[in-house]
Amino acid sequence: MGIFSKRSASLLTKHGKEKVIGEVLNAEVDCFVEHTDTYDTDLLGTFTQETARYGSQLDAARKKAAIGMELLKLDLGLANEGTFMNDPYTGSIPWNNELLVLIDQKHQLELTGFASGPAQNESGYVTHWEELKKFADSALFPSHHLVIKPTDEYHPQSRKGIQDLAELKGAFDWAKSLSSKGIVYVENDLRAFANPTRMENIRKAAIDLVNKMNSVCPECNTPGFWITDVKRGLPCKVCGLATDEEIAKIWSCIKCEHKQTESMKVFKFADPSKCKHCNP
Ligand SMILES: [Zn+2]
Ligand SMILES: [Zn+2]
Repeated sequence: MGIFSKRSASLLTKHGKEKVIGEVLNAEVDCFVEHTDTYDTDLLGTFTQETARYGSQLDAARKKAAIGMELLKLDLGLANEGTFMNDPYTGSIPWNNELLVLIDQKHQLELTGFASGPAQNESGYVTHWEELKKFADSALFPSHHLVIKPTDEYHPQSRKGIQDLAELKGAFDWAKSLSSKGIVYVENDLRAFANPTRMENIRKAAIDLVNKMNSVCPECNTPGFWITDVKRGLPCKVCGLATDEEIAKIWSCIKCEHKQTESMKVFKFADPSKCKHCNP
């Protein structure tokens, strides 16, 4: 039985994340999630320009976890923080990184789970209702909710969480009447409950977290024994020189000094296309 079994972890959110995270933790580590929304997490940052995020993604998550533990008087706390950007490969696809942090005050541990993938994060400017309907279709509305603002994304007023056509029409007319040039700004709502693509990434981050919670150090039994480094230098199949391809993974404990090198089970060679000598 693990150190997390039968314990309750706080989760501060008003965006409906407790269901997916709770299901994963309950099934995989026998841990319960206690939800609270008595603190407004939007004060620590919003995606819609009103409030800049508190510190880095990890700082913001730690802060939320600490507030949640305090509110629920628990020594185990969870928090999620997401970011949106362009994908790291081509730089042209909207991308979402989700971080989940677990803080265990009783054992003085901090574990993190990550997931990233394509995001449903589109935005645009429209002046006609037909244009907006077309945008809504490509932005996966109504399963994914929309945000409407007059003029541009920096306008102080907005309608958020729009989830049906009548509401969208009302918001469009409202924004158009407030915009001097009749321009309406529209974007996907990125809050978890309004964006199922993001919620799925949060579930994947929870799975990554429970895998780490269940992986214990063979020396001291502390959870979080995980890959911290990768050794490179797999020899090229043609010339035998070292390439940048992976040769082994290094696993490390977060408490003691224990490390393990996990070499590849079958000794392989790198394809010459990865070799700087054969394919410079
Ligand atoms: Zn070579
Ligand atoms: Zn250890």
